[in-house]
Amino acid sequence: MAGKWSNRTCKGGRTGGDLCGAAPLSDGAFCLWHDPEHAETVAEARKLGGSRRRKEATIGVAYDVQGLGSIAEIRRLVEVAVLDVLSLENTVSRARAIAYLAQIASKLLEVGEHEERLARIEQTLEPRLRVQR
Ligand SMILES: [Zn+2]
Repeated sequence: MAGKWSNRTCKGGRTGGDLCGAAPLSDGAFCLWHDPEHAETVAEARKLGGSRRRKEATIGVAYDVQGLGSIAEIRRLVEVAVLDVLSLENTVSRARAIAYLAQIASKLLEVGEHEERLARIEQTLEPRLRVQR
């Protein structure tokens, strides 16, 4: 029974020469990215994606924020937020935001300290464990 759920795949090609293989749009032989009818939309989306990534990179450099992959990186983000909030007019919401950010910052300090201590313990124990093996 060939129907809506059959294993149709996009007939578009990839740069390496393979077929795209993605699920095609329900009314055609191509996926959104390869359908000639949607070429303009896709080009616009790619352009937007490109400028968004450039903007992200610029802001990341300006604020010295690389991502959220480590405690140090998250701490930097909180630092930026704290500085922004501190520069605002003194209101009850600002005070609340500062208290909230301080809470997060102290939690991050705690987690960071635990990580450092754990790393030191591992460093100390590792050679001993190796001898025992
Ligand atoms: Zn495709």
